[in-house]
Parts: sequence; C-alpha cells; structure tokens
Amino acid sequence: MAYRINEECAACGACEPECPNHAISEGTEIYVIDPQKCTECLGFYDSPRCAKVCPVNAPVPDPARRESDRDLLARFQKLHPGLEPKGFVLRTENDRPVIALVADGSGDAEGQAALEELDDHIRRQFPDYDVVWAVQASYMIQGLKYKGQTTQFKRAVPLMLADDLLKRLAAAGRTKVAMQLFMSGESNFSKNAIKADTLGMDVKYGLPFLAAAHPENELKLIKSLEPLFAGDGKTATVLVGHGSEKDFEYNEWFINIDKYLREHYKNVFLGTIHGPPGTDFVASVKASGCDKVRFVSLMMSRGGHMPLDIVNDTNPESWSRQVGLPAEPVDSFSTNPALREYFTSSIRTLLGQFKS
Ligand code: SF4
Ligand code: SF4
Repeated sequence: MAYRINEECAACGACEPECPNHAISEGTEIYVIDPQKCTECLGFYDSPRCAKVCPVNAPVPDPARRESDRDLLARFQKLHPGLEPKGFVLRTENDRPVIALVADGSGDAEGQAALEELDDHIRRQFPDYDVVWAVQASYMIQGLKYKGQTTQFKRAVPLMLADDLLKRLAAAGRTKVAMQLFMSGESNFSKNAIKADTLGMDVKYGLPFLAAAHPENELKLIKSLEPLFAGDGKTATVLVGHGSEKDFEYNEWFINIDKYLREHYKNVFLGTIHGPPGTDFVASVKASGCDKVRFVSLMMSRGGHMPLDIVNDTNPESWSRQVGLPAEPVDSFSTNPALREYFTSSIRTLLGQFKS
C-alpha cells in the first residue's frame, strides 16, 4: 500500500530528497506523499526510505490504499521505463510472514474478550498480515470443547495447540511464521510452543514479556502497574501470578518481583496460585494494619481464578477469606500498556528479521 504522512510530521524536510520516486513534497502545513508515485520504495530499497529517515515516524502505510506487489511493480515500471527493479522478487501471498499469537488461553468469557481486544490491537498495528492464534494450555482446549466451544473470540478463531497451528500453516503453503508467545512469563506452555515441529517453515519466535533474555522487563512491569497500587495507607495490594508447581524457573520471576515490591513499596506484595511465593503475603497483609485488600491480576487473560480462588466470600480457601478483609479484584492484565508495547515491538522485530 502507498504511504502517507500523518499529522505527527514536523515538516523537517528530511524525507523529501530520500524518495526515489520524487513522491514527497511540501504541503500547506506538513509534507505530503503523492500516492500515484509511491511504490513503498519497491525496486529501490528493502523498506520505505521516508519511514526510515523520519525522526517522528510520520510516514505510515495508508490502509485506504491496499496494493499488491504486482500493482507496485507496475507503478515502478511506469515511473521508470526500462529500469530493472533492484533486488525485487515478486512475493506470493504464501511468502508473506503470518503472525501467530500463542497464549495460554482463557476459559472465561471476560478473559476471552480481553484476548480478542489484544487480537484487535495487533491487527490494527499490522494490517498487512494474517493473524492466527494457538491456545497452548491443552486442558483449556479440552475444557472449552467439553462446553461445546470449538473457537475462541467472536471472530471464531479455531482452538488449537501450536503444533496443530504449524501443521495447518504448512499445509496451506505458508513459508514464514512470526510466532509471538503471548504469555506473561516463560512457562512450560511457551517452551512447548517453541519445541513444536516447524515442518520446514522459517519460524521466528518472540519471547514472553518476562523472559530471561529481557531482565529489564521486570522493572518495567512493576512501574506500569504502579497506578494500580492502592497507596492510601489502608489498602494492601497483592499482585496475583498464576505460577507453577512443576516449573520453578517460571516462578523465579514472581519471587523476584515479590522481593522487589517488599523492599520498595509499602503494603504491596505478590502471591502465586501455584508454587512459591504462594500465599506468603497473607501474614504480611494481616500484619500491615490495612483494612482492605486489592488483588491485581498478573495473568494475561482472566480465567476462573479471580472469581473462584481469589476474591470469593463463599470459598473458605480463597485469598480474600484467608486475609479476612474486604477485597476488590482488578483484572485485564492484557491491557497493560507496557505489555502491549512490548508485544508490538517484538512482532515488528520478528517481521524485520524476515527481510534481512
Ligand atoms: S515509501 Fe518510498 S516511494 Fe513511497 S513516499 Fe516513501 S520514500 Fe517515496
Ligand atoms: S522526515 Fe518526517 S517529520 Fe520530516 S518532513 Fe518527512 S514526514 Fe515530516
């Protein structure tokens, strides 16, 4: 699709001389692109030059002008008769990477709605790519199928594991897959997705937000959750991680975050449903003198845990009953801006790796 320059343009003029098609000119207030001359730099460069040189990311694809590589090639030939397009190979639809999002999944309608919202977000960011999903928790698939549900979201995305998704993509002739692990941390679910047979396709993996390769995300996560910490001196805040009894590496994140919270914030703790630190926070909340508690989910999508195991007056084992204080739940971790930004930039990096 042709590019356009959005209102972020600072009218610095840096892009104008870079355009190989002389498609950019100074408009009344900002610079403008003539769509009849823009080829997305096809025939000259691997990626749009204007977007590359712009200091404020103002040149963006214009979704109103979707064009195939054939259309862009025809435009190149019309603009530059007799000139050979440089480094150009006509891509087929199958060569275009497909974005595969892999999540634990959710058995709860609100959790699925949160995943659908994430799906919308990614589709808006990458309008030129197919977006497909896998649900990596097999028990979740079984549970949903038992309830008669074979798809997730209103968009009717079929329920399947990463293995099956890759088989489908290979059978459809796709050759490149950008697989983003849409989980909060490195669990066995994400490790199993990476182990799935790629069937000869070129698959690039985007790690979960909390991954050993990105230790800096731990602090980013805490900072982005800060606005949800009660901070009124009377309400304790407990972050709710899922955790695992079998996968200690996964829980190390939660142990570290709990330690950091205890050292740097007053009355903010972290608990895990499975594995350590578990419910160590209960004694701390009781000793804090707080008269309320807020439970903030760290699970990517809400499952049954929040209403069943965390804030539930009728379940004697629930966390709210264990602390014995009025409790409020805060869900929708998937809308956390730090997480969204991380996933978007990770997918962009993966797609960029196919070009190099
Ligand atoms: S994408 Fe390339 S051809 Fe299109 S306006 Fe930008 S620099 Fe020019
Ligand atoms: S480089 Fe960016 S800011 Fe400068 S004129 Fe071009 S679009 Fe505008």
